[in-house]
Amino acid sequence: MVDFSPDTFRKSIELGVELAKVKYLLFTHTHSDHFYLNDLKFRYPPFVKHNLQTLQIYGSEYAIKLVRKTFKGSARKCRIRSKALKLFEEHKIGRYKVIPVKAKHITNSPVETPLNYIIDVNGKTILLAFDTGLYDEGTWSFLRKFSFDLAIVEGTLCYDSWEYHMNFNDLKIFRRRVGAEEIIVTHFSHHSCPLHDKLEKILEAIGLKTAFDGLRVQI
Ligand SMILES: [Zn+2]
Ligand SMILES: [Zn+2]
Repeated sequence: MVDFSPDTFRKSIELGVELAKVKYLLFTHTHSDHFYLNDLKFRYPPFVKHNLQTLQIYGSEYAIKLVRKTFKGSARKCRIRSKALKLFEEHKIGRYKVIPVKAKHITNSPVETPLNYIIDVNGKTILLAFDTGLYDEGTWSFLRKFSFDLAIVEGTLCYDSWEYHMNFNDLKIFRRRVGAEEIIVTHFSHHSCPLHDKLEKILEAIGLKTAFDGLRVQI
């Protein structure tokens, strides 16, 4: 699982996803729409009656420091383990190969590095690009080594503009530079984005798919 928002628990019930079965959780950054530890605290007994399997949490050093602070003295009971990942290095996590790359995003602290992830599973390569604006050259040149079967990218701004999130124009540039087989756009702000039906038409015209809650993709 990548990120854990305040909607995750409710959506897991609605969509029939059993969160107790999740083994690995990667955090991109610590904004509360991605990093909502309050709900993870309910792994503490007696809120959970059955035996939980261990949840291994990964993220930047800053994110992992916050996880450890939050679960200080209770990580064992909550069956949580955590590990900081090194930027641009490959980490073996279960059957996944995971490489964190540097996102372009503002963070809660100047010492926090926002992450996006390259994930390799079953011979397929996926880029998870949220939250980020168009990358700095260092990240682009690293990404050039990969050929992506799927990219899931944020499209927060649509008609607005800000260097730390993507708008329609940024998405066109992202599509050209990443060149993935399939690109799905997610993380929309409806302050500046139209509703789903209109959004889907606009993004389809530039070769992109529009995500929605519960979307399943086979690659
Ligand atoms: Zn954010
Ligand atoms: Zn966000």
